[in-house]
Amino acid sequence: MKIAIVGFGAAAIGFIEKMKSSNNEIHVFEKSKDIYSSSISGIRADGKLFVSSEMGGDMVVDIALQKQLVDFYISQTDNQQIETGKSFYNKEYYKQFYENGFQPITSDFYHIGTDQLKEVLYHIYENFKTHQNIHFHFDAEIKEVDFVGDKIKLNNSEVFDKAVIAVGRSGHKLINHIIKIYPQLILDNTKVDLGIRFELPDHIVEDLNKEMYEFKVKYKTKTGYVVRTFCNNPSGFVVTENYGDFVTVNGHAKMKEKSKNTNFAILTTVKLTEPFNDPVGYGSHIAKLSNLLAGENKVILQTYNHFKNSRRTKNLYRVLPTLESDKYILGDVNLAFPRRIIESIIDFIDSLNKVIPGVANPDNLVYAPEIKFYSNTLNNDVFETLKFIGDCSGATRSIIYATAHGYLTAEKML
Ligand SMILES: Cc1cc2nc3c(=O)[nH]c(=O)nc-3n(C[C@H](O)[C@H](O)[C@H](O)COP(=O)(O)OP(=O)(O)OC[C@H]3O[C@@H](n4cnc5c(N)ncnc54)[C@H](O)[C@@H]3O)c2cc1C
Repeated sequence: MKIAIVGFGAAAIGFIEKMKSSNNEIHVFEKSKDIYSSSISGIRADGKLFVSSEMGGDMVVDIALQKQLVDFYISQTDNQQIETGKSFYNKEYYKQFYENGFQPITSDFYHIGTDQLKEVLYHIYENFKTHQNIHFHFDAEIKEVDFVGDKIKLNNSEVFDKAVIAVGRSGHKLINHIIKIYPQLILDNTKVDLGIRFELPDHIVEDLNKEMYEFKVKYKTKTGYVVRTFCNNPSGFVVTENYGDFVTVNGHAKMKEKSKNTNFAILTTVKLTEPFNDPVGYGSHIAKLSNLLAGENKVILQTYNHFKNSRRTKNLYRVLPTLESDKYILGDVNLAFPRRIIESIIDFIDSLNKVIPGVANPDNLVYAPEIKFYSNTLNNDVFETLKFIGDCSGATRSIIYATAHGYLTAEKML
């Protein structure tokens, strides 16, 4: 069988790892110029690998397979030096959060560190290349997919028995193109996560960070919206992320360079119902409004006290931002975010303060906008010859889940 894989990210890696020893001919089409410039999002960014049955995607992935895939990634590092930890295995912490209305999320984590990620990808690529049935095509953006009888054609040229689309979120153009022609592929499209990046001194969350590194909790706020923490970075840095027509905030943890602050995202899941069906449009507009207030390519920074009382921040007090000063403007997030989202975030932080005193200190920092888009959930039962794996399918949101989705899809095909 001749199989095309579009995109060389986490999901494609899982697929190829399982498929590499078969006698199928595999062609990988990656839009990046070469492996060095490839844009594999999460693997390039933070490199935190999670093993959990409670986060990472909307599919069930056996814990043993998740661990196997973590070992696979670790085996591809040079010095095999990684930080590891667990979250919420400490019963006392679990109880404290639970008693205050939070749903703690348990997981094991493995942090490869941004500094080591390049080599991981490179080793995997070199390893796959040694298999004669695997062919890489870089600088090969796929823009069109057509059916020709029971086969499939890419970019109106080469024909394959099967095509596996693994383009992640950055491949939304291709996905939008496909679902416009085949709308029956869409199962669900209603959610967006909108919120802030919160930054506070390490010492406030020191015990928590020591205990579990990555703490993740969900909380049903008084507005009815569920708010969650995401991407905790002890001694980390706040950064901006450019989406082309708007800028959002994000966070990093580096293996070597450390700051004195911890940052994490606080996100409200907004579910839209009829007649609205454009969560990406909704989220982007709020992001653009925030950028409009902050000035081109900048985000808004505000103290928690001012965020709560809807006042513009003019000076900072004890907590100093780790985001570079030319990337933010001191302002008021309330001018850009809907009231229900702001109230949900305030309720979340004030409730968190009962478990971690100091979290709601007036001079802690709020950055906005932070946004997480969900992909359309796609139905993989519609076509036998065309499959979608990883984040572009809407079924996954993490490196390990995306890799597992690829691995399991290959297993099924075999
Ligand atoms: C900033 C950031 C940080 C993250 N940090 C973490 C983390 O620490 N831990 C974690 O578990 N997850 C993290 N994630 C999520 C994680 O990156 C994704 O869940 C995972 O990479 C999804 O794998 P994928 O294969 O579906 O997509 P990707 O890994 O994004 O790969 C998609 C590939 O397809 C290519 N491509 C796109 N369009 C085309 C096209 N038309 N033709 C050819 N090629 C194309 C892209 O260049 C890319 O190489 C992070 C995401 C981001 C954005």
